[in-house]
Amino acid sequence: MRRESSIHIDHAAQLALIFVLSVLLAVTALLAVSWGASLKTKRVEGLRINQVVLAAVAREKDKVAKFAANYENWGDDLLEEGTQRNSQDRSFISVNSDGNFSGMWVLDKSGRRVLTVSPKGQVSQHTHLHSDNAQQLIGRLGTSGGAVTEVFEHHGSLSILVIVQVDKTSEFTGLIGSRGEGYLLVQKSLNEDLLADIKETMQLESLALVRPEDGSGKVGIEDANGKIVAKITWSVPEVSSFIVNREFYYALGISLALVGVGFGGAYRVATSFRSLNRQARVDSLSKLPNRNELLRRMRGKRNLDDIAALALIDLDGFKLINDFHGHLTGDAVIRHVAILLRTNAPESSTVARLGGDEFAVFFKQGGQNAVENLNKILEKLSQPTTIDQCAIKIGASIGVTMIGQTLLSTEALRQADIAMYAAKKRGKMQVVAYDESMEAPLKEMIAVKDELHKAIDERQITVKYQPIICAKTGVIETLEALARWTSPTRGNVPADLFISVSEEFGLIGRLGELILENVLADLVKLPATRIALNVSTAQITNFQFTELLVAKIESGAIAGDLFDIEITETHLVENPEIIHEVMLRLSKLGIRFVLDDFGTGYASLGFLRRFPFNAVKVDRAIIEDCLVSSQARSVLASIVAMAHAFDMNVVAEGIETEKHASIARAAGCDQLQGWYFSRAVSAGDDALWKQPSAFAAAA
Ligand code: C2E
Ligand code: CA
Ligand code: CA
Repeated sequence: MRRESSIHIDHAAQLALIFVLSVLLAVTALLAVSWGASLKTKRVEGLRINQVVLAAVAREKDKVAKFAANYENWGDDLLEEGTQRNSQDRSFISVNSDGNFSGMWVLDKSGRRVLTVSPKGQVSQHTHLHSDNAQQLIGRLGTSGGAVTEVFEHHGSLSILVIVQVDKTSEFTGLIGSRGEGYLLVQKSLNEDLLADIKETMQLESLALVRPEDGSGKVGIEDANGKIVAKITWSVPEVSSFIVNREFYYALGISLALVGVGFGGAYRVATSFRSLNRQARVDSLSKLPNRNELLRRMRGKRNLDDIAALALIDLDGFKLINDFHGHLTGDAVIRHVAILLRTNAPESSTVARLGGDEFAVFFKQGGQNAVENLNKILEKLSQPTTIDQCAIKIGASIGVTMIGQTLLSTEALRQADIAMYAAKKRGKMQVVAYDESMEAPLKEMIAVKDELHKAIDERQITVKYQPIICAKTGVIETLEALARWTSPTRGNVPADLFISVSEEFGLIGRLGELILENVLADLVKLPATRIALNVSTAQITNFQFTELLVAKIESGAIAGDLFDIEITETHLVENPEIIHEVMLRLSKLGIRFVLDDFGTGYASLGFLRRFPFNAVKVDRAIIEDCLVSSQARSVLASIVAMAHAFDMNVVAEGIETEKHASIARAAGCDQLQGWYFSRAVSAGDDALWKQPSAFAAAA
């Protein structure tokens, strides 16, 4: 024992060391990456600001140059409107400026100022012209004409200066003298406006102009001589620096915490490893062992004379609980069931949760009493309870199989699954023991599946149409499309069988498309009657079928408002949200929905009202019951009354005799369908349109 435990701690210490080292390595890498990223961010951000500043300066230069070059458009007004005064041989005008300039001068040929224009109320320093700068610009203008634009610095403030040549016909000629040649100089001070602009675009409050010799300056602004006259500075961009710093501190914090945990001792790390291990074996919601752990325990050693058994328990209606009461209540139900199973299963058994609403009980011994035991569990389980303040009634389908010494645990699971499936098929709320004969229907289904693959590829599936008639007039109002398969080896395969096989084995998508194609091809042989398509949820919920239908309607291949879709009630209960969504979408294209087989499931008309159904089709079984039971007749009458109150039509199916028809009519059904009127026949068959003589008599 001692030896074992010292080995255990050594092992844990090794693990801890490896753990700590990898944490350190990971953190170092993280830091390096985040550091690198921060450098890169700063550099990229710097380049960006650079560009923005230079572009802003260039834009500003351009604006002023355009303004100057356009002097002919505003020169007159300026001279007329401005308040002019003369002093010695120079004129001064003060004008209302719209901000395009902070000073303006007219110079004669020799560069002497003849007119100074200053914006009203502006500080005179802005309108101070340095004569060196003027001379320099005149020199650069040469004889080429056009405009020369430069940035100058004067007493720490930056200005854009633009010079243009004014020609002989200009408004300024009078000022300049007889030869009429001279220059117009426009100055625009840069500092505040420019900065404000950039600050706003970049969201960079820290942006500032600094002297060229200031070390913090980042972008130099050059003057005409290429001399840097000012620099722009900013501190590290606020937003990204914040992120960089935060990341850095997170990483540091996490690393310190992890290193602390690591050094906190091999023991604790070993414990957390153990908890990880536990997590791999335990379902977190129910705290029960999970599938892996169940299999592991089933594979464990057993006494030779013990009889073991495995039960699979599938809750009935759990999805409904989830949908009606929400997932929190759903979770509470799972926990409730977990506790109930644990307290009522034998001590030596393992209760596991396999996922969703599926549980398992592994009887390690006493398997011969399993069915009895499970029946008691089922009884307790099905008693109504209050969970999360909701009244809940849970049911279950339970399959059980005995496990001999040689049976593989996965095979036991499979057998229990088949038995559970049988329990569901037999009407739920029961315990069914596995029996080899249950394999036959499954094998049959698998055989049908193999053939169905080929049948779809070879397009052996066809469609026949059964009329649905108006209960009052006997006029055919809709044709229900029913799939037909005549197999070369099996003959006519019932639609129920091959449809459910295709649903079970994932073939319904392709089959549904083939059926729709057949219906589309038949349309030419059918007058413009409504067509009712049967659609299973598997088709609706995988969206491919819906998309195909939408495409056909949008391309005009079919008229949406001539199509009904029949959905069965059980399907609806399994996937309410998604079906609701698809129904809304297709309703918009004119499609109408009929709830098929109504009365066979649990759904109430209140529940159904949430869906946009136009009609309910009462199941054949109810019509059949009406023949013998007055209670069934009043059920039918109340279904009709409620459906009508909800603005839904009622269709009675399975009308085989005159008696059926009169019962349905008496109950107020709007439409009738059944062999009494017509079986399903091919699109081209005239029989489709023949009035049944029996009906004519009855109507
Ligand atoms: P369903 O939608 O309830 O179709 C009515 C079934 O009742 C059809 O059987 C029809 O032939 C049969 N029937 C009609 N009148 C009478 C009658 O007076 N008495 C009796 N006893 N039966 C009558 P079918 O064609 O064998 O179809 C069985 C089921 O297979 C359908 O039940 C439907 O759920 C499914 N199905 C058929 N065609 C399609 C299809 O194209 N797509 C899908 N998803 N399911 C289909
Ligand atoms: Ca139908
Ligand atoms: Ca039906």
